[in-house]
Amino acid sequence: MPAKVLIVDDLPANVRLLQAKLEAEYYEVLTAFSGEEALVKASQWQPDIILLDVMMPGLNGFEVCLKLKESIDTRHIPVILVTALDGRDDRLAGLKAGADDFLTKPIDDMILLARLKALVRLKQLIDEIRTRESHSRSTGLQSGFYANQELYQRSINAVGNVLILDDQDQHAKRLMIPLAEEHRCAYVTDPNEAMEIAKGRVDLIVLNLDADHFDSLRWLAHARSNSECRAKPILGVIVAGDSPRILKAFELGVNDIVLRPVDHLELKARARTQIRRKRFVDFLRNSLDRSLEMALTDALTGLNNRRYMDHHLNRLMMTAASGGAAVSLLVFDMDHFKNVNDTHGHDIGDEVLKEFSKRLCANIRAQDMPCRMGGEEFVVIMPETNTDMAMIIAERVRLKVAENAFIASNGRHLEITVSVGVTTSQGQGDGVESMLKRADRGLYEAKSSGRNRVIISMAA
Ligand code: GH3
Ligand code: MG
Ligand code: MG
Repeated sequence: MPAKVLIVDDLPANVRLLQAKLEAEYYEVLTAFSGEEALVKASQWQPDIILLDVMMPGLNGFEVCLKLKESIDTRHIPVILVTALDGRDDRLAGLKAGADDFLTKPIDDMILLARLKALVRLKQLIDEIRTRESHSRSTGLQSGFYANQELYQRSINAVGNVLILDDQDQHAKRLMIPLAEEHRCAYVTDPNEAMEIAKGRVDLIVLNLDADHFDSLRWLAHARSNSECRAKPILGVIVAGDSPRILKAFELGVNDIVLRPVDHLELKARARTQIRRKRFVDFLRNSLDRSLEMALTDALTGLNNRRYMDHHLNRLMMTAASGGAAVSLLVFDMDHFKNVNDTHGHDIGDEVLKEFSKRLCANIRAQDMPCRMGGEEFVVIMPETNTDMAMIIAERVRLKVAENAFIASNGRHLEITVSVGVTTSQGQGDGVESMLKRADRGLYEAKSSGRNRVIISMAA
């Protein structure tokens, strides 16, 4: 699918020129002739990139950019500001407004296309994470993490760790002085050492692309093929005018370029943009991890929850039904647990549930999946396990719970026991529901025959 570009400019001639250039490169183009129109179209059409003119009547480019970055619908869309040639202050203000890049008029086609490509790559990454997150939210709990404005702001405003790689001490120091005003900076002159450091907690790599003593393009390619560095932003520093080398650098995966002689304010602004963008991607990733985690784990014990259990048991049962290995299931229910709450209070009850989870986890095997079903009921899914083995492990857990008292935070020693139902998959025709029913029947029998015991139930 071609990338979608929204071109925003109040002058129709400018728009048409850019549109023709981009359509010739197979981009899909939509246009807007004012800031107001741009906001509506950005939110409705969801372009991959926005090319935004600064000088417009009504809302100007900065204001539009700010609004785009404030809105949860559009803040993930990279914005390239298009400024006048002498608009240095404009460019800095634009980057401050959250723009992802800027171009000067007249636009150099090669550079435009190279920068577009870099931003399309970034957009694809962001889209992938967002899709996965919204998918996990629709199947699980709403985490609200992504929508949390304060967390978002905090995560994109943090100070970064910047690594400068330059073969000459003097050059490196000159780059470091302005950057150190805002970030934690370190410089190295040895490329191998730089690669090792880059794998660690680095938020931005500033790379001298004109180094004499090592091949900086090769270093760039190497960083991009290494799994620990692949996602790290790299800001190249290169002498103005070397277009082929600049294009090569973009092709190899540099995220942005600063031209020599280096303008300190521009270097700082571009570094800030790269770090903010990395934070945004990290923010999205965390948001994804959290919603997945919240959707699948139980908050009190940290064990898997019922949703997780349903999913995995279903998968294993399907394998078992089509001739794969048998699955066994243990269902635990604490005995007279209501008494614990009634006598010692709900908090102590919670402590007991946590301690039980610990003992449970310590006495099952690595491949077994412990889950809290809710209340004081737990399930262990045992892949590739027959009834005899399941019985041995259930009995081991039962004993480890009963043989030593639980020591509560109020100093009391509590005698705790559990009852357990055990069952094993029965091949074709057996499903999750009948499996759980059988295990529950075993549990019921364990309760009615005196508690603190394990009962196998294989009857249909
Ligand atoms: P039985 O031996 O027949 O299983 O008796 P029981 O008292 O364990 O069974 P019952 O189902 O009557 O009571 C379960 C109790 O577990 C009731 C409820 O208050 C308590 N409980 C459920 N969830 C939690 C929880 O998250 N924390 C605490 N502290 N108690 C819980
Ligand atoms: Mg109980
Ligand atoms: Mg119960």
